[in-house]
Parts: sequence; structure tokens; C-alpha cells
Amino acid sequence: MFEPVIGLEIHVQLKTATKMFCGNAAEYGALPNTHVCPVCLGLPGALPVINEHAVRLGARAALGVHCEVHEESIFARKNYFYPDLPKGYQITQFDRPIATNGWLDVPGEGVPTRVRIRRIHLEEDAGKSLHDRIPGATAVDLNRAGTPLVEIVTEPDIRSPAEARAFLVQLKRALEYLEVSDCNMEEGSLRVDANVSIRLPGEDLGPKTEVKNMNSFSNVERAIHFEIGRQIGLRERGGAVEHQTMLWDAGRGEARPMRSKEESHDYRYFPEPDLPPLRLDSGRIGELREALPEMPWARQARFGSEHKLSTKHAELLTASRPLADYYEAVVSAGVESQEAANWVMGDVLAAVNAGTGSIDDFAIRPAPLAELLSLLSAGTITRPVARQVFARMAQSGKSARSIVDEEGLAQVRDDDALQRWVAEVIAESPGEVERFRGGDAKLMGFFVGKVMKLSGGKADPKQVNTVIREKLNG
Ligand SMILES: [Zn+2]
Repeated sequence: MFEPVIGLEIHVQLKTATKMFCGNAAEYGALPNTHVCPVCLGLPGALPVINEHAVRLGARAALGVHCEVHEESIFARKNYFYPDLPKGYQITQFDRPIATNGWLDVPGEGVPTRVRIRRIHLEEDAGKSLHDRIPGATAVDLNRAGTPLVEIVTEPDIRSPAEARAFLVQLKRALEYLEVSDCNMEEGSLRVDANVSIRLPGEDLGPKTEVKNMNSFSNVERAIHFEIGRQIGLRERGGAVEHQTMLWDAGRGEARPMRSKEESHDYRYFPEPDLPPLRLDSGRIGELREALPEMPWARQARFGSEHKLSTKHAELLTASRPLADYYEAVVSAGVESQEAANWVMGDVLAAVNAGTGSIDDFAIRPAPLAELLSLLSAGTITRPVARQVFARMAQSGKSARSIVDEEGLAQVRDDDALQRWVAEVIAESPGEVERFRGGDAKLMGFFVGKVMKLSGGKADPKQVNTVIREKLNG
């Protein structure tokens, strides 16, 4: 049985206003070649200046995933020729990266897997070649050239495609909590390459292939799955895995080798002569560590102990920082923690996903939601009415109290009204009445449902139950 051995390299665009070494905007989606200057165009004599905020974000990301941040790191030139790389080299970090030796625990069935992070380094992005703008030609957009990145390199500690995906989900959640990147895969602000090899028990690590061009986590999982199968097939037929770069084709569901000429690089790294060593004294590193937010795994654990939520619910509610903040605001406004969890995971998330997808844009803020839920828990309104009021609040922006008052939605406990509704339902369902009296007790649900509908959801279901029982058995 072959064992897969997987390591990941993740490029993450840092959320800065300007580029890594010049003052141009690092914004996505501008007209091509409008955010460029002599530095990022690589014009002779232009000199780079390190973006302090990018360094801060890079160090923060590293501390968040338990790395050691170094007081001194060195920028280096990685030399290669490519049309979207106007300088003819990329400024990156080579043998002295800003951070090393981190880890992330990846939840799975049973014990979490610890995936070690070998290094994190700062670098600038290349521009972008556009193959679909001009028929028969390739265009180059240099807006992205020089935007700040961190590259995160794991040790080959991952053993399955699903585990690779789980690692990426955990990493993305961490980076979002740290607010260092948008992590938007569609816009390319988070890009993943996978190093894949297989081995028999006891075998040393063999040659690996590097799989590129995956634009979603599910494609990362599919591509690694495909590549493992391809390598196993090769070995079983007596072939050998070659060290090469594979390009994932999501449409065809397969990875194909890039021409080998393109990947036989000798980058001739050397220290960047235009930049001094990057120094961060221990005091600054300490301040950055102090300023870390409560990380998602810690918050998830706290949701379990403090709010008594199941692991599954705690994980769901800590999926993003704004969602976790929203939930905790509802709880601190006085709603019982499981009831709050049910509403946030249910009606709130459904409405958010049907809208902009961002909880920060959602019309019903935590305090008004808590007011609605207090009307429910006090018995002023029934659960079905609460859900109606919720929908009306989302549309109108009115408070729960005013919707209930204006529309007369308060729960009806008036006996006469209940008696009338029940009598009406019984009168129009003679067949069901006969079957119920004949012992088909499940029909109770049918009668209660009809009365609730007749009452517009305002009847107290418990009381309805009692009255029906009295009338049908009495
Ligand atoms: Zn520039």
C-alpha cells in the first residue's frame, strides 16, 4: 500500500494599501497598467523601499501560526526571465526568511494532525499575462507586479487530499482572523501549489511532483487525488515518478506535465544589493505577539466550554471572526446560548447567504435579534410567528416589537378564539376525525397544523393540543 506524502506552498497577498517596494496602489481590478512606476516597472536606477506595513502583516501572520519571527532577515534576488517580470528578477527571501518553525493543528476524526510550517517569507508578486484579451496575442498587466506576498511552506506532513483541504481551511480561517489578507482565491489573493509523492512503508521520500493552477480548495483536493492515483499507476506498471511540474486542468479533471524546459530553473539567488537586511527588534516582535487576536481554534474551544456548544456548532460559529462576534453579541444581549446558536446558524446564515454573503451587511443586528428572541422566550409570540417577524425585520428594518404590535401578531391565548378554530377544523375534516378516534394518534399533528394555519401561527400550540384532545376524546 502506497502512502501519499504531501506538502503545500501557499502564496498569500497581504492587505496593504500600497505595493511591497513602491508607493503604487496594490488594489485589485484597476484598468491594466495604471498602477505602475519606475520601481515596479524595473526602470534603470529606480530603488526599492520596504513597505513597513507589509512587514508587520507578514510577521503577524507568522506569529499567528506559531512561527519564530527572526530579528534579521535578508531579501534576495531570484533571477528568471518572464514577460510579466519586468525587472528580470523577483525580490524574495531565500536562506534567511522572516520566520521559520511554525505549526497548525488540523482537525480530523479523532486526534488533530499537526502540520509543521517550515518557513514563511516575504516577497513581491509578478505581473499577470493575459491570454484571452487580444486574439492571437498575449497582453501583460503590471498592476500586480510588486504587490506584497507571504509564501507559507509546510513540511510534507499531510497524508491525504482531504487533510490538505482541511489544513487550507484552517489556515485561511487563521489568516482571516489575523486580518492580514482577503484570502480571495478567485482574485488570486490566496494561491496554492502542492508537492506530492508516494512511498511504500519504510521507503525514503521519493521524487515529488509540484501541482499548480488550482483555483479553489475543492480543486486542490481533486488535483492531489488525481496526482496520487497517477503516481500509483506509474509505480504499479513498473515506471518511476519523475520530478516535474504538473498543471491542473479543472475542466478535464486531470493534471498534465508542463514542458520540462520551463521548469529547469537556476535562479542564481543572491542578496538584494539595493536593500539593507530587514531588522525587527525583539520589542517590536513582542508587541506584535501581544496584539494577536484570539485565534479561531482558541475561540472554538471557548465556545464549547463557555457557551456549552457542541464541537460542530462551535466550529461553524467560529468559521469567521465577524460571525463569531455576531453570535457573541446576541448572547451578551441576554439570549440563551444554544437558542442564539440555532438562530444564527439557521435563519440568520440563510438570510446572509441569500443576500451579500457578509454578516456585517446583514440588516438585523444582534441587539434587535435579541429583542425578537426575548418576545419568543416570554411567550408573547410563537415560534412560527417569530420566524415571520424575523423575515419582516430583515426587509423593513423595523423592530420586532413594532411589527408584532402593528400586525397584531401576539400569541392568542383567548379560549373562545381557540375553541372556534378547533371546531372549524374538526367540522371540515370528518374522515380524519373518524380515523383519530379509531386510534390513529399521529393525526394529532395534522389537526394542530391546521389550527395553527387558521390562526396565522398565533395560537399557542400547547393549548391547541389540549383543546383538540378535549373535543375529540371528550
Ligand atoms: Zn511601483
